[in-house]
Amino acid sequence: MKIEVLTLFPEMFEALKSGVVGKALEKEIFTVNVTNIRNYSKDKHKKCDDSPFGGGAGMVMTPDPIHSAINAVDGEHKCRRIYMSPKGKTLSQELVENYAKEENILFLCGSYEGIDERIIELDIDEELSIGDYVLTGGELPCMVAINAVSRYIKGVLGSDESTSEESFASGLLEYPQYTRPQEYMGLSVPDVLLSGNHAEIAKWRYNEQVRITKERRPDLIKEDE
Ligand code: SAM
Repeated sequence: MKIEVLTLFPEMFEALKSGVVGKALEKEIFTVNVTNIRNYSKDKHKKCDDSPFGGGAGMVMTPDPIHSAINAVDGEHKCRRIYMSPKGKTLSQELVENYAKEENILFLCGSYEGIDERIIELDIDEELSIGDYVLTGGELPCMVAINAVSRYIKGVLGSDESTSEESFASGLLEYPQYTRPQEYMGLSVPDVLLSGNHAEIAKWRYNEQVRITKERRPDLIKEDE
């Protein structure tokens, strides 16, 4: 997968270079190309924002530098073009897995009060939110989306099981995890996990998934569970 990112703050994407995602980028299992929208401003001071028509607080990103940047990196519209926005549909496990099937994705990160609406009409396929709260820019939401999607790109994680048994993958939250030591601060690992009986372990884990999901996210439970 090839990911294009358009932003006024390219330096923020250094954060992608660490951990599992950083290793996958080094090995070019997928690529992230970050473009500074400011490079496409025709203004002599490289200005990319202006005050809103109709008045109101804050500044709005002007359309031309964004339009030019999009055309420079995706002139043939090969990318699924996504504008990070609190007004978009909310990122979910289903959307993550759907995005992971794409070959080319472009993420546009807004700043200030957002972008001129005409860019959404002209150049954007969809708007994507990471939740019902407002951040100062689209960079962190974009990195959240890239991180979540990258975990479903073959070769990024150690094994396929890493995603298939996790929260949301089965529609339920994950069961509790334990590792060494067997006893910690007077608390022991449940006996069944030490039993070596894989059928019993699977049964315990499933029951725990249902219990935790019922407690914390009853909205995820289907009628028959
Ligand atoms: N005025 C906008 C509104 O009320 O909908 C909010 C603009 S916000 C301060 C600046 C930028 O941050 C947005 O253009 C968007 O790219 C990004 N952003 C903020 N919150 C977001 C969220 N929950 N999900 C995705 N992007 C977000």
